[in-house]
Amino acid sequence: MQYRSTRSDKEASVDSATAVLRGLAPDGGLYVPVEFPQPNFDLQTLAKMSYQQVAKLVLSWFFDDYTDQQLEDCVVNAYGSQFDDEKIVPISKKAGNYYMELFHGPTLAFKDIALQMLPQLMMTAAKIKQQKNKIIILTATSGDTGTASMRGFSDIDGTNVVVFYPNDGVSPVQLRQMLSQPGKNLAAFAVEGNFDQAQTKVKQIFNDVAFKKILQQKGYQFSSANSMNIGRLIPQVAYYFYTYGQLIATNQIKLNDQVNFSVPTGNFGDILAGYYAQKLGLPISKLICASNQNNVLTDFFATGKYNKNRQFHVTNSPSMDILVSSNLERLLFDVAGENHVIISDLMNQLEKTGEYEITPAMKKKLSQFSAGFADESQIQSEIKRVFDQDKYALDPHTAVGSYVNYTYRQQTNDQTPAVIVSTASPYKFPETVYHAITNQTVNQPGLPAIKQLNELLQDSLPAAIEELFNATAKSQQIISTEQMEDAILKQNN
Ligand SMILES: *Cc1c(COP(=O)(O)O)cnc(C)c1O
Repeated sequence: MQYRSTRSDKEASVDSATAVLRGLAPDGGLYVPVEFPQPNFDLQTLAKMSYQQVAKLVLSWFFDDYTDQQLEDCVVNAYGSQFDDEKIVPISKKAGNYYMELFHGPTLAFKDIALQMLPQLMMTAAKIKQQKNKIIILTATSGDTGTASMRGFSDIDGTNVVVFYPNDGVSPVQLRQMLSQPGKNLAAFAVEGNFDQAQTKVKQIFNDVAFKKILQQKGYQFSSANSMNIGRLIPQVAYYFYTYGQLIATNQIKLNDQVNFSVPTGNFGDILAGYYAQKLGLPISKLICASNQNNVLTDFFATGKYNKNRQFHVTNSPSMDILVSSNLERLLFDVAGENHVIISDLMNQLEKTGEYEITPAMKKKLSQFSAGFADESQIQSEIKRVFDQDKYALDPHTAVGSYVNYTYRQQTNDQTPAVIVSTASPYKFPETVYHAITNQTVNQPGLPAIKQLNELLQDSLPAAIEELFNATAKSQQIISTEQMEDAILKQNN
């Protein structure tokens, strides 16, 4: 199975291990399968499979240069006791919908599902390709990717992790997680600016040939833990399959029934995995793209125009504070008939002018998507609505998905069973959740706020939160975007 860049001819394709090691294609494009898999699978069988079995099955469709045993080992190492629920992804039926809880991993957000797996896939790829260079995992984060990649790669041989997060753009708990994650191969820097500025700079560094040469001479090469890496994207496809199987297994739906998924979206990785699941043949009707106030995608799906020239809002759902959704490029590639010239052209326009427009013919192929957004007060009222109805606390990101699904159903009267993709634990954002439910501000943000929320919810604290109380945190290192190369060199010399 070969992978090609969204921006180059398919003649320049590579195998999956190489795509995982590189993260981003040399031309700045994203790797996609040259021939998208068309597997035979049986939904009835799916209903009987464990999360680990489903994950392995899905990976085997995309990573055929890994042996069966290698994939088995990856799955065993990635999805074990580091999750606080043995199902890995439990599903809760609350307030009339299904909440697919992706936050039972060690950093309490859905990024763990992919970032417990990516280091396994990457180490195995290094073995397959007999890679000598040490890998620098370069990551721009809006909060959760940073914590999850530091956790996933902690003390993994042959890797160094450098994380850049926006100064003042992450939540107190996210910050504490990054500063207290042990591991001798980890470094995190606060960058002056917002997430997009950090991500843009990381992409530039990735494409900086001279800089890469310097590191190459020292025995290093870059890879990415962002969802641009297929080794992170494909593991996410598995939870759509698993959830569908579980809905059958628990008699919530019948075989071949259609299901909607509402996905709180930032970089478009999570929802793209849902789109890939649909493309693989899973009966998904609508993919609901839910944004916060940074609603560039809502406008895109409404008009076919992508325009990032707008105010950037720092919100209480920081992991979705994004104006350039990288993975949209993979969707565009499909609706452009896999035409890399069109994609290069659109991405050039985006870089030069901050906007582009797709053709009506391309837009027509996006009909399975619906899109909407929630502002800060709508997020708060959704947390309250679901809590009052079912004593179930949503984090602010999940609340975006929940709210947009709620309004979608009111407007369309679509009765298709709906799964809300639940991306973080409420304990990761205790200040917002507490305020939404009680209309009162916590006494003190961060760890004390967790305690206060816990008293309100009266449930048991996740083990990963307990750990945070005992960990010691390093102090922050704040740098400008111009200092990012230096920071990388210092860490890797
Ligand atoms: C990253 C993240 C999102 C957005 O996911 P994308 O794949 O970037 O669209 C939503 N919610 C939480 C909690 C996240 O960490």
